[in-house]
Amino acid sequence: MTDLLNPRPDQSGDAPRRPRVGILGAGQLARMDQQAAIPLDVDLRVLAGGPTDAAVLAGAEAIVGDHHDLETLRVFAQDVDVVTFEFEGVDPAHLRALEDDGHRLVPTPAAKLFAQDKLHQRRELGRAGFPVPPFEHARVAIDVAEFAARFGWPVVLKAPRGGYDGRGVAVVSTPVEAAAFLEPLADGALVEPALSIERELAVQVARTSDGTTAAYPVVETVQQDAMLRELIAPAEVDDALAREAVDLAVRIVDHIGATGLVAVELFVTPDGVLINELAMRPHNSGHHTIEAAVTSQFEQHVRAALDWPLGATELVAPAAVTVNVVGPEDGSDPRARLQEALAVPGAHVHLYGKTARPGRKLGHVTALGPGVATARATAWRAANILEGTAA
Ligand code: ADP
Repeated sequence: MTDLLNPRPDQSGDAPRRPRVGILGAGQLARMDQQAAIPLDVDLRVLAGGPTDAAVLAGAEAIVGDHHDLETLRVFAQDVDVVTFEFEGVDPAHLRALEDDGHRLVPTPAAKLFAQDKLHQRRELGRAGFPVPPFEHARVAIDVAEFAARFGWPVVLKAPRGGYDGRGVAVVSTPVEAAAFLEPLADGALVEPALSIERELAVQVARTSDGTTAAYPVVETVQQDAMLRELIAPAEVDDALAREAVDLAVRIVDHIGATGLVAVELFVTPDGVLINELAMRPHNSGHHTIEAAVTSQFEQHVRAALDWPLGATELVAPAAVTVNVVGPEDGSDPRARLQEALAVPGAHVHLYGKTARPGRKLGHVTALGPGVATARATAWRAANILEGTAA
């Protein structure tokens, strides 16, 4: 544990105290939480891996420490009004210990477990009658082969914990490939059929501890190499499907009793809408809300974490498209082309202050428009410039 970075002055006098929201993690999501906390006059304190983490560079007060260490978490929790998250991988036992110490956690450790363990999530949601893909717990390759005998090869294997942006997910076509995937996983994996996915949808829902919820219009996400590449808001689906997606997401969040911001990722398949997974934090599928919604998902998360009134979720334009900016293969840094991208009228550019590496998410661009086609053209134009692939 080191010193406090970007320390706030002590609060004294009779003025109402500024609340302090603690975030475990200091990457781009915490950076955008910080951006949202400023107009609310809320102080954020983040648990960072180092002084160059994205949220620390954005001015959030930070403790540098390791979230695997319970003592570090205890010291961190001591001086904040609420502990919340920007990633899934915190030891559930540590979170329960903080709760037992009397700290307020958003979401609670019991709810958080849904986002931390894909197998637990599938089992519990399936048991509660929510539509999930067929799945099994595969410990060894023979379990995978038995599953494939029912549903056909290839199948999709997922590490129950620790995966993101497609890491920890593999499409496997043979028992040998399955064995290789399972080899490092002590607790086995989730196996499911390779689904015929017509579209991927996502719904962000915020919930406060009195059970009030606020849902955003459903969006469509487009993945490339299992990582979100483009998102379209609102999703171009018929009203009945849009209502079904939002209704399903709100029912899930209510069922779990989650608090804070939750992103519910859905697959539209020939067999109907199925739940892919939940993220209990602001999520890449909601980045458009910064410019395209009355209240951004980040502001909503801060409000929900403090049990404050939730903001309106309507979109402020007929359409919005967000495109992620990914580190180019040649290793070049999009920052070098920032000014050129800013010359694209209507492009809202976000860079996260991260070191450029091929394939790494370094920022995003959002554009609003009278329709999807215009918004998409603007967002891609600026993103292609940043990635150095503009014609
Ligand atoms: P992560 O937690 O890394 O985001 P996901 O479980 O959401 O991983 O999977 C990443 C992407 O892989 C999904 O968005 C989807 O495009 C694809 N995918 C996941 N599961 C399946 C499946 N069963 N069948 C087909 N594609 C899948």
